[in-house]
Amino acid sequence: MAKVVVIGCGVIGLTTALLLRENGLDARIVAAAPPQETTSAVAAAIWYPYRAYPEDAVLRWGSRALETFEGLAAVPGAGVRMREGFELRRVSAPEPWWSAAVPGVRRCGREELPPGYRDGHTFVVPVVEMPVYLRYLQRRFAATGGTVERRVVSDPDEMAEEARVVVNCAGLGAGELVGDGSMTPIRGQILRVRNPGLDRFFLDEDDPEGVTYVVPRSEDCILGGTADEGAWTTEPDPEVADAILRRCSALEPRLADAEVLEHRVGLRPGRPEVRLEMEAGRNVSLVHNYGHGGSGVTLSWGCAEEAVRMVAGALDPAG
Ligand SMILES: Cc1cc2nc3c(=O)[nH]c(=O)nc-3n(C[C@H](O)[C@H](O)[C@H](O)COP(=O)(O)OP(=O)(O)OC[C@H]3O[C@@H](n4cnc5c(N)ncnc54)[C@H](O)[C@@H]3O)c2cc1C
Repeated sequence: MAKVVVIGCGVIGLTTALLLRENGLDARIVAAAPPQETTSAVAAAIWYPYRAYPEDAVLRWGSRALETFEGLAAVPGAGVRMREGFELRRVSAPEPWWSAAVPGVRRCGREELPPGYRDGHTFVVPVVEMPVYLRYLQRRFAATGGTVERRVVSDPDEMAEEARVVVNCAGLGAGELVGDGSMTPIRGQILRVRNPGLDRFFLDEDDPEGVTYVVPRSEDCILGGTADEGAWTTEPDPEVADAILRRCSALEPRLADAEVLEHRVGLRPGRPEVRLEMEAGRNVSLVHNYGHGGSGVTLSWGCAEEAVRMVAGALDPAG
């Protein structure tokens, strides 16, 4: 019997399972879909708190993750790179609420703002190339002896014969898995285009036509986006894609002729608050780690560290 089973193989499940094993705990993963088919594989993915709550905990988890990603930026093959970028505003705005977590956040000078913007901040944060990074996490997990079983779990209690502690990292799937009616999809549509030579990212959350972002990676750029609450369809909408490309090209004209490589949709696991806690009263000790909204990558390491402490406490209540 593995002592711990982690349900889910997105960025939250992989990070949590990896940290469990690297802390000497016997953990394995059970997941309905492999990393490449999860929401995590679609993420842009900048270190940036977005649609995740409560703010004080997000700041704490995000700070820990930022530190870890800074270290990973020096690891070849991890897919993490520190990049400068801009949060653009159409009206004057205070410092971003999360700026205490990021050294060196600076207000932009007028000359740095694209046409149509009144204000903005610039900062350097990790950009995580998810297909590369998820493979890196998989390799690191496998190197500790960790295994992944592909299986749909219908109730965590069914794992009682197989594990002493179960960690629920099922993302949006947690809604059905544990009957959490507060879970809602926040649909995000993106385009992947060939990178025409960009190295800085842009974010505009205020665009009246929809959240707009440009995230350059090694070979491609992620162009977004949408944040449609309650929308379940994973089929990309061609009209939405045209509108995203138009908005992003207005921000960076070199994108207008960039070759489109792929259209994708991901369903962010929306919840009024991230659920990171133990649940008592089940057949198996259960730790929840889900509901990270638009910030799963941003919070991954901080939440995994807390989940590991909870698991260790459940395995050894006296310790
Ligand atoms: C367009 C877009 C852009 C984004 N950009 C960013 C960004 O810039 N920065 C950032 O931090 N975040 C970003 N996000 C959000 C981020 O992608 C999510 O918060 C994160 O991927 C959630 O990870 P997860 O591991 O909880 O869920 P998922 O990646 O969805 O993984 C869930 C796992 O649980 C498994 N599972 C579910 N139900 C069951 C079950 N019953 N039995 C067994 N297995 C089950 C699934 O198969 C899967 O393996 C973005 C998301 C989108 C869509």
